[in-house]
Amino acid sequence: MVQRWRLLSDKLLEVEQAARSDLEYRVHERTAQLRSTMRELENANRKLATLSLNDPLTGLYNRRHMDNVLPELCAEARRTGQPFTIALVDADHFKAINDTWGHGFGDTCLQMIASILTRHVKRPRDITIRFGGEEFALLLPDTDTVGAQRVCEALLQDLQTTTVNGPDGKKACLTLSAGIASLLPDEDQQALFERADGALYEAKARGRNQTVIAGI
Ligand code: GH3
Ligand code: MG
Ligand code: MG
Repeated sequence: MVQRWRLLSDKLLEVEQAARSDLEYRVHERTAQLRSTMRELENANRKLATLSLNDPLTGLYNRRHMDNVLPELCAEARRTGQPFTIALVDADHFKAINDTWGHGFGDTCLQMIASILTRHVKRPRDITIRFGGEEFALLLPDTDTVGAQRVCEALLQDLQTTTVNGPDGKKACLTLSAGIASLLPDEDQQALFERADGALYEAKARGRNQTVIAGI
């Protein structure tokens, strides 16, 4: 009788042990599945965030990114006393490029302009934005107007000396104008942007293919 009871008790322990191992295994497996799903979701979120801040045609940052970072960059410059300069760069007579060779070629030109901007705007903290059709903004922390002008002159020169031919082989005249403004004490990003835009307007009025620094 005692022996029989022992046998039954051992059997019960065995069954319990097996059930526990099986349960543990299943919990383990389910946890691993959940972890993997969470990783996939995180990656998808990261991709979405990148997509929402980038311009699909050129790969540059878009206006949304500019709106996100401009207040921060202005606040940082005010705090540290370091200069912060923006340059607005606009393609000259770009409508004529589209009218002559079509929108597809216009898009190719915009990609070419973006790659020239990327080549020249190269400090780690510099940011290049396509914020409108043929309009770009360079956000240059720790850079004064003289430094920004040097960058703009170099990229204007680069584009001017690059031969661009339309699909019919005829030479396309591609140039840029730029307006530059450095943040003044107590100025907000809106006022800074407007001064740079005024300088860009002046560059257009003076004949295009040139850089103008905003007055104070
Ligand atoms: P300005 O020298 O005064 O800047 O003259 P503009 O012709 O460049 O300026 P305007 O504002 O009159 O025209 C801008 C043109 O840029 C209009 C449109 O044909 C072109 N454009 C805007 N966005 C795009 C785009 O995404 N792709 C292409 N291909 N063209 C664009
Ligand atoms: Mg233009
Ligand atoms: Mg424009």
